[in-house]
Amino acid sequence: MILIDGKKEAKELREDLKTEVSELKKKYNKVPGLSVILIGDMAPSQIYVRNKEKAANEVGLKSEVIKYPDTVEEKTVLEKIEELNNDITVSGILVQLPLPKHIDKQKVIEKISPSKDVDGLHPMNVGNLSSGYQGSIPCTPLGCYLLIKKIDSNLKGKKAVMVGRSNLNGKAMAQLLLQEDCTVTITHSKTKDLKSECLQADIVVAAVGIPELIKGDWIKQNAIVIDVGINKTENGLVGDVDFDEVLKVAKALTPVPGGVGPMTIACLLKNTIECFKRSN
Ligand code: NAD
Repeated sequence: MILIDGKKEAKELREDLKTEVSELKKKYNKVPGLSVILIGDMAPSQIYVRNKEKAANEVGLKSEVIKYPDTVEEKTVLEKIEELNNDITVSGILVQLPLPKHIDKQKVIEKISPSKDVDGLHPMNVGNLSSGYQGSIPCTPLGCYLLIKKIDSNLKGKKAVMVGRSNLNGKAMAQLLLQEDCTVTITHSKTKDLKSECLQADIVVAAVGIPELIKGDWIKQNAIVIDVGINKTENGLVGDVDFDEVLKVAKALTPVPGGVGPMTIACLLKNTIECFKRSN
């Protein structure tokens, strides 16, 4: 049984990225820049953004956080994005989600230049990913993918089940595993028999937002289980997977916290560097 150490994997990735940034600096005499827009004062978003900024600085990126109160007009945010799109020192733009209700998420996502869309949510990048073309890949699925590949480098013909179909997680993850020649099933809240779908899987990726939904007897012996969920409970943070039960049957499992989360942040930095390289 492998308990996947997301903190360690993310640290190694950040070290590689730090080396890459210093090489890019020598070559181009500039470093990739990441601009994050944070709207409102929701505690989880504030924490994510702080962690992202810290990690960006550590690997040597130029990073800035632009903060607005949650009363900010949509027009102001769209104008700022336009300004960042035209700023050659900015390689990547991320608007921290969720947004206040009066701001149209789709408008905001589509305003970001696809070449600077480090979250990979612009329809152009979604299309690139599903067509197998070059583009930004959403950070969390990219992090999950890198963790899975470390456990098993040959995924050909493996049966992979996504639990959850969000654009941010399940759908993008499915595309990545399809490109690896997995046979992919995407399940969701209306799936008839989730347990029997999961039981067939060599790889399960859970991104639902329901504490400990996936039980030990839903998992095939020796499956790889990736838990994306982050759920606040009275017992602290837990994932979408019943950790103690699944630990007994899986070949490899990510803990929560300390699994997918740190990889998401490292992949944001990776995406920023990729955007910089493509634009130079
Ligand atoms: P979402 O709400 O957009 O999507 C949830 C998905 O789960 C939906 O597709 C829905 O159909 C499905 N679902 C709901 N109930 C279900 C059920 N009973 N059975 C099967 N499927 C069901 O959520 P999201 O943005 O994809 O996030 C999912 C979880 O991942 C959340 O806990 C979130 O906090 C976490 N998350 C973690 C990271 C990270 O870096 N670790 C990043 C993003 C999201």
